[in-house]
Amino acid sequence: MDHFTYKDGRLHAEDIDLDAVANAVGTPFYCYSVRTLQRHYRVFKAAFEGLDNLVCYAVKANSNQAVLKVLADAGAGADVVSIGELKRALKAGIAPSKIVFAGVGKTTEEMQAAIEAGICQFNVESEPELNVLSEVAVSMGQVAPVSVRVNPDVDAKTHAKISTGNAENKFGISWGQVPGIYARIAALPGVEAVGVDMHIGSQLTDLEPLKLAFTKLVGLVKQLRSDGHDIRNIDLGGGLGIPYDPAEETPPSPNAYGALVREQLAGIDARIILEPGRLIAGNAGVLVSKVVYIKEGDARRFVILDAAMNDLMRPAMYGAYHAIVPLKEPVGDTPSWVADYVGPVCESSDTFAEQRLGHALVSGDLVALKSAGAYSAVMANSYNSRALVPEVMVMGNKFTVIRPREEVDAIIAKDIVPDWL
Ligand SMILES: *Cc1c(COP(=O)(O)O)cnc(C)c1O
Repeated sequence: MDHFTYKDGRLHAEDIDLDAVANAVGTPFYCYSVRTLQRHYRVFKAAFEGLDNLVCYAVKANSNQAVLKVLADAGAGADVVSIGELKRALKAGIAPSKIVFAGVGKTTEEMQAAIEAGICQFNVESEPELNVLSEVAVSMGQVAPVSVRVNPDVDAKTHAKISTGNAENKFGISWGQVPGIYARIAALPGVEAVGVDMHIGSQLTDLEPLKLAFTKLVGLVKQLRSDGHDIRNIDLGGGLGIPYDPAEETPPSPNAYGALVREQLAGIDARIILEPGRLIAGNAGVLVSKVVYIKEGDARRFVILDAAMNDLMRPAMYGAYHAIVPLKEPVGDTPSWVADYVGPVCESSDTFAEQRLGHALVSGDLVALKSAGAYSAVMANSYNSRALVPEVMVMGNKFTVIRPREEVDAIIAKDIVPDWL
């Protein structure tokens, strides 16, 4: 459930008319709802009530400081994948003891920063990384807490580009190598095994692959414990899907997911770490855009928006679905208009929706691309010399620009022409 609803015929974010925001900041812009972020966090957290658990929000989904502050205040920890995200999480007030560090290519600089901060654990993804972490920790006179990201080799049944838990993926350590790497941790100075970690993919709409993976993981934990390793944390990763297209997707509820975790991990005494990203932020944001032109082609009708693939890459990158709704509530007739929704960038992949059924639009109308709170503003870039669009946060009847629109002149000013030209 989110707080983007029609009131008096206009789409609102909580109590704010999105038209008023458009008038204030221009289009396109991202808008996030605080109450929706808080609600999603609360509902997810409640699904694990009574279990020893730590919810580490996956910062890569949306790393704006204001978003992180909302989640930090709600009690969330953070799952970070770079020194930049580590700094963002710390700056937003997330306790280092609630931060886990993931990623296949951690550098020594990143390891140093995370050890210095005193994070909860490193999720280690290879033996070379483990060796370097050991050296770095020893050189600092510290011991780094380690969980190994294991690859359970299950098919997550999600989009290939966001599937991470089978043997062909770059992520995690393959099942057969796991006992050996824990033996290696025990033998190395400067590292200490504190848990196990997995993350099989994103936008999972079926619990079966998770059930399979959890079963394997529990067997592994028992084996590692009998080998003498002190496995205190079980990190189950993120990945629970959200309804982008409610007619097509019915992802399991946080409660159903929580029930699966309880059932599968019953009797295993450990702290459960969870890393939701999309589930918290995805439906807490929209991208508002203006219709520039309607172009009636021979074969198709095109709605040309002022937002483009550089602002929101998910459709071009993953073929992702975003609902597109007008800010002015449609009345009366059922949708009968079919159109392609495209941006102005010079790429055919700059298409938000193809042959989408909707209500008729005219140039100047405003639309919202929904479910744009996660993996959206964070992936934006300046292709075609388009300035990054602003981000706005709403709570109740208040709104604030939480990242201003970039200026094209400022982008150009970053270029350096050599004085020998
Ligand atoms: C991306 C990622 C997450 C978050 O995934 P969501 O699908 O957004 O919940 C969690 N853990 C790891 C290791 C990730 O790479």
